[in-house]
Amino acid sequence: MSIAENLKEVQRDINEVCKKCGRDPSEVTLIAVSKTKPLEDLKEAYDAGARDFGENKVQELTAKMPNLPSDIRWHMIGHLQRNKVKYIAGEVELIHSVDSFRLAEEINIQAKRKKIIIPALIEINIGDEESKFGVRPDEAKELCKEISELDSIHIEGLMTVAPAADDPEEVRRYFRKMHELFLDIKSENIDNVEMKILSMGMTNDYKVAIEEGSTMVRVGTGIFGARDYSRKNN
Ligand SMILES: *Cc1c(COP(=O)(O)O)cnc(C)c1O
Repeated sequence: MSIAENLKEVQRDINEVCKKCGRDPSEVTLIAVSKTKPLEDLKEAYDAGARDFGENKVQELTAKMPNLPSDIRWHMIGHLQRNKVKYIAGEVELIHSVDSFRLAEEINIQAKRKKIIIPALIEINIGDEESKFGVRPDEAKELCKEISELDSIHIEGLMTVAPAADDPEEVRRYFRKMHELFLDIKSENIDNVEMKILSMGMTNDYKVAIEEGSTMVRVGTGIFGARDYSRKNN
């Protein structure tokens, strides 16, 4: 199937799942995760209606950005090093991967320099996996409180990459835990911290994630096909 057809199918699935669980499809944003994919693939998705694109590397993101239409909303979804924040400050719609106070401080500095406020999510390592980035669920609230003191970064929610599983039902409990954490932090009404975005769900598990309250799904393979990491320039 073509990228355009894949995109349509994923959007249809999102609408269907929403209907099934009584949610409004407009509550769920689909992010087309285009990492490792060439510009022509992104253009095809754009022409088919995609406007939110996710990349996980600063260098790749900033190389693609000037070559594509300016109404694209770029999402930084990968691990972010402090020394690279300056390259994406003001260029991306949302940083999904804040996992330390020091990173938040750097984002705050770059935002101030540009006289903007940068929206961001806290990345949670919901499965407490050695291999994953993100803070432990029990550290999230404290981190939100610390970051709330910084006036040029605005926390708008949480993000997670769930543990890998063959059966998406196996990760339902992690998504549920994320939603509980999201509501728990929301109920604290922390100044300058909003809980309105819950970024969870990828190709294999986005339907379950939506059932458990996701407001942003990040789908790569399901739209662009499998990634080839052996290609040059990836
Ligand atoms: C690659 C990636 C995705 C998309 O994964 P697929 O399984 O291809 O849908 C989503 N989120 C993050 C953080 C990623 O790095």
